[in-house]
Amino acid sequence: MKRQSMVILLNENYHVCTGCALLCDDIEVITDNKKITEVKTACRKGVSRMKGCNEPMSPTVDGQQVDIDVAIAEAANILKNAKSPLIFGLGNSTDGAQIKAIELAKQIGAVLDDTSSFCQGPTIEAIFNNRIRSCTLDDVRNRADVIVYWGADPSNSHPRHLSKFSYFPRGQERQRGWEEDRTMITIDIRKSHTAKISGDKSYQIPLRMDAEFIDALIDALSGKVPKVSFEFDTKRILELANILKKAKFGTIFVGLGLIYSLDDIEPVVRLMDKLNEVSNFHLIPMVGHYNMRGFNQNLFNKTGYLNRVKFEKGNNIDVQHGAEFSIIESLNNKTVDAALVIGNDPLSSLPLTVAKHLLDIPVITIDPCETFTSRKVKVTIPSALSGVECGGSAIRMDGEEVKFEPIIQVGSNRPSDEEILIRIMEAL
Ligand code: SF4
Repeated sequence: MKRQSMVILLNENYHVCTGCALLCDDIEVITDNKKITEVKTACRKGVSRMKGCNEPMSPTVDGQQVDIDVAIAEAANILKNAKSPLIFGLGNSTDGAQIKAIELAKQIGAVLDDTSSFCQGPTIEAIFNNRIRSCTLDDVRNRADVIVYWGADPSNSHPRHLSKFSYFPRGQERQRGWEEDRTMITIDIRKSHTAKISGDKSYQIPLRMDAEFIDALIDALSGKVPKVSFEFDTKRILELANILKKAKFGTIFVGLGLIYSLDDIEPVVRLMDKLNEVSNFHLIPMVGHYNMRGFNQNLFNKTGYLNRVKFEKGNNIDVQHGAEFSIIESLNNKTVDAALVIGNDPLSSLPLTVAKHLLDIPVITIDPCETFTSRKVKVTIPSALSGVECGGSAIRMDGEEVKFEPIIQVGSNRPSDEEILIRIMEAL
């Protein structure tokens, strides 16, 4: 069950950016008096992450500022008294913190879930179960001649994706780079910034028509005449199938635009199967939070499931898995009576009709920065910003492990997520 991945070793002059799941490992910083004053090489999103919070979190109980030990004791008290606690988040936490959260969930019999439950989970599960063939970003840089972004706009979501790995760089077998050696295709409902770069290889399709477009593309790859029910020049589908067939090393980057358009992952599995009959294709999910894939991998290694689990209290083996243990169903059905939210802001990111149950139960947030959720909850515990104020490791969007060291030291009033979880477990 345990998956192996290569560890990426870092040159000591460079740091890792935890701004997204690309985990760029070539970041230079200038520090002054325990603060980062300048960030080089990172994109704007990364600079903003590494320079820290506009509004750092303080330890509070019922809105009153308290000593961090008091906040941790109150968090333990809430979790100890809950009959069915929820632990949610962890996409912005290190592997070490995620493993501790799994241990805590076992100890208190919690429901444990993360954002992959309503985004890239099905794609990652299909990769873990070897239903979809994947590759590393380094393979893409060195070998890929055909790159497809489907429902993804990395120019905004992962700003260095094209320049560091996929389209612009020279690689071992791609010495002439984007000018001659690579073709980039975008399939999306809009002319995104990335689609503009792909020029005439941009395929714009109507909203929620991805499954139909996939079937038409599979027909074209099978030598049949493709048909779609919407207005689209089907000659362009034949042209697209032709490019994909001729690829020496192709990679599809799947974004949330595609995932949210499909009822399930099966059309993507069918397309990948067909592509690998007639060509050579791989798939990488465009994971957002820097260590969401780590959460999936760490939980999978321990339980065989990558999200939506419930542990039985006091029993280290018994774990249940199912849609009813997703954060959405747990809150909709009001089956949880307390929540520990780590590095996430569900009151901002989930529909209010779902998230409003969080306003009726005791909630604890662990986060470096103040969030909309943290302003409404019973207990807040400030944590160190991982990748800047504490080190650890994380799993990049392609499954590779990246290790990082802290860049600046902070005091004991901002422990790492992992240390906070250990202290909560000790206090239980
Ligand atoms: S692309 Fe992502 S990891 Fe790289 S610098 Fe930007 S935010 Fe950081």
